[in-house]
Amino acid sequence: MAQSKIDWTERVWNPTIGCQKVSSGCKNCYAETFAKRLQAMGVKDYKDGFKFKILPHRLEEPFKIHKPSKFFVNSMSDLFYEEIQYEFLDRVLDVIKNTPQHIYQILTKRIEVATDYFSKREILPNIWLGVSVENCSVKERIECLRKIEAKIRFVSFEPLIGQVGKVNLSGIHWAIAGGESGVKARPMKKEWAKEIFDQCERQGVAFFFKQWGTFGEDEVKRNKKLNGRTFLNREWNEYPIVT
Ligand code: SF4
Repeated sequence: MAQSKIDWTERVWNPTIGCQKVSSGCKNCYAETFAKRLQAMGVKDYKDGFKFKILPHRLEEPFKIHKPSKFFVNSMSDLFYEEIQYEFLDRVLDVIKNTPQHIYQILTKRIEVATDYFSKREILPNIWLGVSVENCSVKERIECLRKIEAKIRFVSFEPLIGQVGKVNLSGIHWAIAGGESGVKARPMKKEWAKEIFDQCERQGVAFFFKQWGTFGEDEVKRNKKLNGRTFLNREWNEYPIVT
């Protein structure tokens, strides 16, 4: 289980891998590209590339980390992928329950599956549940998320590829915004991110600006490291307040 390069988490844990595209935010899926690279390198778990599979041997991984850590669950898949068996999700939840020292950040584009799953199960206090919203066409994911009794609910506006517009953030504790990376990346306009930032400010939601991505604030394509993480003259690294 690797330490993560993703700024808003500490580690990644992938008890399942593989997925299929579900909305326009998936177009240049990083996980798909990375899975194919690992397949080419001969990594055993990725012998079928980005085909969905459960990896029961990875269920033990969080027990080996004693330092309390934030885990991004499934950077290489979507935990609520339609083919997942609820019995396996129950095993994932058992791990989460038995490692209360850790926080598990579960981000999905399939909140309707999560809604069904949690309708009959307790959502544990160390789960942060989030949805990805890349543009206005998938804003209803936030409505579904709001109805789930997670201790922390968050929205990842990344890759932000279009204007989201007015958004109701009541019941939402944390927002992440960021542009897309990679050679085929689509630019993020500053005003789209600013509109989200303003609404977070007004509605009391912690704001984390992850990156500009391949296109900078000036909408010029360059190395993403050069584009940096500065937004409105500073870095935004806010986290939700956990009580
Ligand atoms: S839901 Fe996530 S992992 Fe699945 S294809 Fe879309 S971006 Fe990739």
